[in-house]
Amino acid sequence: MRLIANYHTHTALCGHAAGMSGDYIREAIRNGLQEIGISDHGPIPRSFMTPREYADNWLQRQMDETIFETVYLPDLAESIRRYGDRIAIRTGLEIEYVPGHDDYYRWLLTKVEYLVLGIHYFPSVHGLYNAYDRMTAPRIAEYAALAERALATGFFSILAHPDLFLMTYRDADGVLLFDEAAEQATRRIIDAAVKHRVVLEVNGGGPRRGRYPSQDGMDWLYPRTAFWRLVAKTPSARVAIGCDTHNPPDLCDAVIDETIAFAERLNLKLLPRIDLNSERKREP
Ligand SMILES: [Zn+2]
Ligand SMILES: [Zn+2]
Repeated sequence: MRLIANYHTHTALCGHAAGMSGDYIREAIRNGLQEIGISDHGPIPRSFMTPREYADNWLQRQMDETIFETVYLPDLAESIRRYGDRIAIRTGLEIEYVPGHDDYYRWLLTKVEYLVLGIHYFPSVHGLYNAYDRMTAPRIAEYAALAERALATGFFSILAHPDLFLMTYRDADGVLLFDEAAEQATRRIIDAAVKHRVVLEVNGGGPRRGRYPSQDGMDWLYPRTAFWRLVAKTPSARVAIGCDTHNPPDLCDAVIDETIAFAERLNLKLLPRIDLNSERKREP
């Protein structure tokens, strides 16, 4: 498959990417994309968590609500004005779900067209836990529980890297693990995505981190073969490539081709484009 749309694109405003929306949009036009969505890491208000949790999850390094309104949104509006006649441009955010603040997500959806759910941290027994720290069977279950809860809200069109919870789940020798607990969490996430019509994203950023020993031989941290094998057995699951681009030249490079080839090897049926308006079922 040739990529014709991508809805997962960052900008320099998150503090760990290069370029502004126009740089990615020009790259998309050069590569023949018909549609591009910009979805930088969305702001999470400080009041949603303790100062310790805010710092431990690197939140002070991301755009805040002021930058969102005074820089991000005007930058997108300017790009639509400049390039909107050459490519369909969609406005979005990749964002965490922090339960108990649904009005905030409703407000965000008055400012952008779609939200990509990216879960990097989740409520655990002792407060928020970051999935980059070591994952265990109970933590994996907590990750799946948050995914279920978030997808049920109807705020999210796409679940980014739904297999990210497996990244630090390893056995005593450091081999990436996919056991009964991992399979259960995978099934819970797939079922929730199917039920709430949320697209599962095969993430094109994961392969940039290299391959590591796993039960399936050398494998990416994500997308993980064992996870997507189960998705492939669920014909009702809706799947798309998300480039997760943090640097404009990466938008349609060889790594993205490899990601597409991975999905095709597993017989995943990739959506060429996502109809964001009809996918999102917002609850009142
Ligand atoms: Zn990022
Ligand atoms: Zn991302």
